[in-house]
Amino acid sequence: MAAEVVSALDVAVQDARATYAAARPVSAAQAAAAAKVLPAGSTRSVLDFEPFPFRVAAASGARLHDVDGFTYVDLLGDYTAGLLGHDPPEVAAAVEETLARGWAVGAIGDGEHRLAELLCERFPSVDQIRFTNSGTEANLMAIQLARFVTGRRRVLVCQGGYHGGLLYFGSGGSALQMPFDFAMATYNDLASVAAHFADPDDLPACVLLEPMMGAGGVIRATEEFLTGVRRLCTEHGTRLIFDEVMTSRMSTGGAQLRLGVTPDLTTLGKYLGGGLTFGAFGGSADDMGAFDPARGGALTHGGTFNNNAFTMRAGAAAVEHVLTAEALDALFARGEALRARLVAVIGDRPLTVTGWGSMVGVHAMAPPVRRPEDLVAADPAVAELVFHGLLAEGFYMAKRGLIALSLALDDDDLDAFVTAFTRVIDDLTHRSLLPSEP
Ligand code: PLP
Repeated sequence: MAAEVVSALDVAVQDARATYAAARPVSAAQAAAAAKVLPAGSTRSVLDFEPFPFRVAAASGARLHDVDGFTYVDLLGDYTAGLLGHDPPEVAAAVEETLARGWAVGAIGDGEHRLAELLCERFPSVDQIRFTNSGTEANLMAIQLARFVTGRRRVLVCQGGYHGGLLYFGSGGSALQMPFDFAMATYNDLASVAAHFADPDDLPACVLLEPMMGAGGVIRATEEFLTGVRRLCTEHGTRLIFDEVMTSRMSTGGAQLRLGVTPDLTTLGKYLGGGLTFGAFGGSADDMGAFDPARGGALTHGGTFNNNAFTMRAGAAAVEHVLTAEALDALFARGEALRARLVAVIGDRPLTVTGWGSMVGVHAMAPPVRRPEDLVAADPAVAELVFHGLLAEGFYMAKRGLIALSLALDDDDLDAFVTAFTRVIDDLTHRSLLPSEP
């Protein structure tokens, strides 16, 4: 019986891929041509899916238009970087201003000061900030800063965590991992963190974690876990780094403000550059003084594009004019409501909805999902069928089940999505493709 279910799933996946491919000859041709010069035809592995990812011809608001004439409601929101939608006028104006005033100046402009002021005002842990080109780079800088100010080596991270392409602690991540002295704890398991604080002569320099794991499975930390880790770090002089590259969207001051748990260092990225290349790390004036020779700081922080004029002005415009408390609170509430609706639609079927605020995870397994390790029970074939089913209905989300709402989506989009999601999983149910046993 189990073998029949597996093969029926395989056949259904092959059918879904074939239907998708047959309708998209232009994307297929472009994907094949691109594969000659780009490994797998792309330059960002997370965008790959079978049989080939559609090619985008244009994007506006919350819509993607592909080269074969299909339009998708964009629920992926560029893995959270697209929170503002595809063409927010405030950002477009900042870009146009920069086009008129020149770029690649190799000198200090006005944008970095403004963006720094805005972000330092917002994030409780951030007195001073520095900009980078990506969230990965922000995390690398924060780790090295923590190691420098503590004089310690070890970096404690959680199994399954993703903090950038060179800082991935899930399966298959180790080959590209930075050669730091990493130690591993289990997310939402305070004892597993405490075990690394047992030897006073061998304490970690920092603990790096997300207040809610994004790529790790859209899994929230429990309050007990976060406050416990905060306490351990405070007691032992270990820097607590919150990677808020994704979770900063939870309020104007990120997850830390919403939760009332303040880290020592914070890393940021994604949408805070207005949708342009962006990263940042910040913390107390004392720690960040390591970069200030006037205060005895010895560290230099290079990066040709750290203050690129487009991002600096676009980010400042986005934060000042679009990412208001009202807008972020409304988006948070909209995500909470969507999650509740999906949970109701699923009922007792073997699918789990996780997340917090405007980030939602849909997993092809029965609950509970408390940490990334739990996701080994998820069925990739069912996940792919949900993904392709939704694409066929005109909705784009991550194949791994991530939804990151953007401000460009409206209630009608989400109503239509819930209807489509219901149709897709009802169809799988009727075809006996949602196995309730592994
Ligand atoms: N940290 C988290 C939590 C992320 O989700 C990501 C990217 O998805 C990163 C860091 C890396 O950011 P970037 O892709 O800008 O290097």
